[in-house]
Amino acid sequence: MTLKLFKNAHVFTPRTGPAPAAGAAQGEIFEIADGCLLVENGRIAALGERREVEEKRGGRAVEMEIDLDGAPVIPGFVDPHTHACFAALREEEFSMRLAGKPYLEILKAGGGILSSVRSVRAASGDELFRFSKALLDATLRYGTTTIEIKSGYGLDTENELKLLDVIDRLGRETPQSVVPTFMGAHAVPEEYGTKPDAYVKLLRDEMLPAVVKQGVARFCDIFCEEGVFSVPESRAILEKARELGLKLKIHADEVNDLGGAVLAGELRAASAEHLLAASDAGIAALAGGGVVAVLLPATAYSLKKPFARARAMIERGVPVALATDLNPGSCFCRSMPFVFSLAVLGMNMTPEEALTGATLNAAWAIGMEKEAGSLEPGKLADFVVLDGRSPAALAYASGSRPIRSVWKTGEKMA
Ligand SMILES: [Zn+2]
Repeated sequence: MTLKLFKNAHVFTPRTGPAPAAGAAQGEIFEIADGCLLVENGRIAALGERREVEEKRGGRAVEMEIDLDGAPVIPGFVDPHTHACFAALREEEFSMRLAGKPYLEILKAGGGILSSVRSVRAASGDELFRFSKALLDATLRYGTTTIEIKSGYGLDTENELKLLDVIDRLGRETPQSVVPTFMGAHAVPEEYGTKPDAYVKLLRDEMLPAVVKQGVARFCDIFCEEGVFSVPESRAILEKARELGLKLKIHADEVNDLGGAVLAGELRAASAEHLLAASDAGIAALAGGGVVAVLLPATAYSLKKPFARARAMIERGVPVALATDLNPGSCFCRSMPFVFSLAVLGMNMTPEEALTGATLNAAWAIGMEKEAGSLEPGKLADFVVLDGRSPAALAYASGSRPIRSVWKTGEKMA
């Protein structure tokens, strides 16, 4: 039994309701100017003004008393959308993109996702683990204490299971909480290039049952896009995943408005991701289905595309979450503070809305709302101490790292 007391904390946190924070609730942040946090065995035992926290402490000895000097304290970032398990970077492709080659053409030429598939298939589990652990260590320094990681660079049963096995090991052997997602429907592999139907059949009949038997993945995600998986194919795969007990996510309307957001609403998916081209009908479907919109502004920035319509989504009652999309192709971003600043300066979210998006709504998007995403008794003592006066410092100090320290289950990580 270890007890730690953090005092002199200026606490800023969203508070967990019965559903993800939508509309005006997205901007509601609870503030304690002279706050104290009592941490017991890695979880928040009490939070509030000094006197009430001392009451909960009840005179018990604390192992450590930490003075946070009045600095802003926010929940640890929850990054609800990454592809952070791969074997090699693709910086050359970035240069091709800068020279004007569209992504779907790079994909057709065997680049993009498919080049990551070749390097992942050639890598051992240990190699993948070492490479990905270095990525996770970097995200932790930027304040990410909970992270979702998708498979999807294996694209056959053996290699998808290998990736999920590594993602599971990352969760056990690194400090961060890791949520594994199966994304065998990330692209059609080269060997199925001319017969995507056969790959959809393999996904439904062999890969999904094997993934569920392995027992690592909690979600199933799919890239619903022109030239990748159509809406009917996406529906067929996701319905099978749900039947087998997985929760659903959809990469929807990133390049074209194909109707992915509408499908996400119809299936009541946990989240729909990207949504750069989502239509008004798509946004209405997300609101109607209670689907969290996971927006990835660093990807839009990296691809030099207009940002997703965050304001329209918030105004129409869609809960918005923010993520890095950390991957070797479209967005090699490891910094949630950078994503936060793009949300505020590029998508016109308020700092309060962005804070909820990068913490509590992100936790809802990956089924971690009971464990993470806010500073409340019973949750993990995961928090970030900022260098500044309020969460707005994350956008004000854009492009830098306005972080004093990062704490995971009450332990100092950075
Ligand atoms: Zn993605």
